[in-house]
Amino acid sequence: MDILKERILKEASVINNDVLKLDSLLNHGVDPKLTMEMGKEFARRFADSKATKVITVESSGIPVAFATALELGVPLVFARRKKTLLGEPDAYCERVPSFTKGIVTDLLVSRHLLSSDDTLLFIDDIIANGDAARGLIKIIEQSGAQLAGIGIVLEKSFQAGGRALRELGLHVETLVRIRSLEGNVITFED
Ligand code: 5GP
Repeated sequence: MDILKERILKEASVINNDVLKLDSLLNHGVDPKLTMEMGKEFARRFADSKATKVITVESSGIPVAFATALELGVPLVFARRKKTLLGEPDAYCERVPSFTKGIVTDLLVSRHLLSSDDTLLFIDDIIANGDAARGLIKIIEQSGAQLAGIGIVLEKSFQAGGRALRELGLHVETLVRIRSLEGNVITFED
């Protein structure tokens, strides 16, 4: 998505060789028009998915997942991210490392929000190592729902997450792929 590449070049800052700061578009602020364009693009790419729900992880995945769900005309469910020492019998729960926070958190989804009749489209903001995605996939498996595909706004292709999901045979679509952040320079894949 060329418009997204342009906005990333204008607004993102490189924190180090592994981390991009993209607060104005994805992680702290939202451009509603651009977010709707992302949602339309995911809806187009997954038009044949027969998704009954869109699922994401709070909080940065929610705007683009909402836009996608609106375009597809289906509900949205977002996994809560919290650190809990209590058992949550009414929720599916998976413990995952957090890429940016350097801690582990739990992803929780209330059991009543997912059914084995669901076909889920997973939408998220950024993929790095793929831990959040793997956690959410395990929750989907626990629920008995089908996973129709995974749409990610920004893939850092020098990290293993996106590749690992494709190797599992999953349908993964990413709007922008970054090959490198080395030397403080954002280099996109073609
Ligand atoms: P993963 O679980 O794939 O390693 O990391 C995914 C999550 O970590 C994303 O949902 C995103 O919020 C956060 N994340 C990963 N890499 C970056 C990054 O370079 N910048 C920011 N701001 N967040 C990131």
